[in-house]
Amino acid sequence: MDAYEVLEKLGSGSFGTIRKIVRKSDKKVLVWKEIRYGRMNEKEKSMLVSEVNILRELKHPNIVRYKDRIIDRESSTIYIIMEFCENGDLASVIRKYKRCGKRVEESRIWTLFFQIACALHECHCRKQKILHRDIKPANVFIDRNNGFKLGDFGLARVLSTETQLAKTNVGTPYYMAPEQVNELPYNEKCDIWSLGCLLYEMAALAPPFEAANQLALAVKIKAGRVSRLPEQYSEELNQAVRSMLQLDSAKRPSIEDLFKLPKMQEQAEIAVRNASAVPA
Ligand code: ATP
Ligand code: MG
Ligand code: MG
Repeated sequence: MDAYEVLEKLGSGSFGTIRKIVRKSDKKVLVWKEIRYGRMNEKEKSMLVSEVNILRELKHPNIVRYKDRIIDRESSTIYIIMEFCENGDLASVIRKYKRCGKRVEESRIWTLFFQIACALHECHCRKQKILHRDIKPANVFIDRNNGFKLGDFGLARVLSTETQLAKTNVGTPYYMAPEQVNELPYNEKCDIWSLGCLLYEMAALAPPFEAANQLALAVKIKAGRVSRLPEQYSEELNQAVRSMLQLDSAKRPSIEDLFKLPKMQEQAEIAVRNASAVPA
C-alpha cells in the first residue's frame, strides 16, 4: 500500500469506493476500488472473488485493465488496482449531451458499437464464456484517446461451456433483458440486449424502456415495443438496434453476426488504419 499515493475519490458504486492513486515507482496514475469485505456474507464474498478473478483474465484494449490487488486483513479491505480512464464514463457523456440539447454524431455511435462489440467478443467467444451482465453507461469508460472500454465486471459470472444457461436474477433494471425480468435462464444474449439499450440511449439520450417503478418497467420490457431513433439516424442503425432488442433471445444477433454488418466492417477497417498510424 505504501507503493501508492492516494488522490481524490472518483465515486462509489454498489460495492465500494473508487479513488485515483499514483504508483510511486513510476508516477503512473491508476485507480483502485476499495471494497470492505468484513461485513459481507458468503454470497457477496464469492461475488467479489469472482469479480477479481475475471478482471485478472481479461486483457483487451477495450476492457478496463486490471493491474493488481492488495488485501489489507487488518481493515478487511481489498484494493483492486486498475487502469485510470481519464475521460470518465458514458453516463456523464450522455448527461452532457442532454444538458446542451445536442445529438451524438452517428459515426461516434458506430465506433462505440464496434469497440464494445470487440470487448464482448473477448468475453463471449472464449472457452470459459464470460457474461458481463451489467452493461450500462456508467460501466463504459473513455480513455485519453477517446477509446471506449468496458469495465466493472462486478456482476459478471463465468459461464462454463457445459452449462450454457445460468439462472440468477441480477442486472440493471433499465437494461435488463426480458428473460431476466421473467427470471428465466439466460445466456450471452442478455449482453446483446443491453448493448442494444446502450446504443439506443446514445442516440435517443433516453433508455428504450423507462418507467416510474420497477414493476411498470418490467411490463414495458416484456411488451418489447421500441420507438424509432431520432430522425437524423440511419435505417442501418435503427435496424441494428432493433435486432438486438428482440424479445426472443435466440433471434438476437451474436457478436459474430454483428461484425458482419457493413458499417461494422467499415469500423474494423478504420481500427486497422488507426493502429498502423500509431508508431510502435
Ligand atoms: P455500480 O456499482 O452499480 O456498477 P457505478 O458503476 O456507478 O455503480 P463504480 O463502477 O464502482 O460504480 O464506479 C464509481 C465511479 O468511479 C463512477 O463514477 C465511475 O465513473 C468512476 N470510475 C470507476 N472506475 C474508473 C476507472 N477505471 N477510471 C476512471 N473512473 C472510474
Ligand atoms: Mg460497480
Ligand atoms: Mg460501475
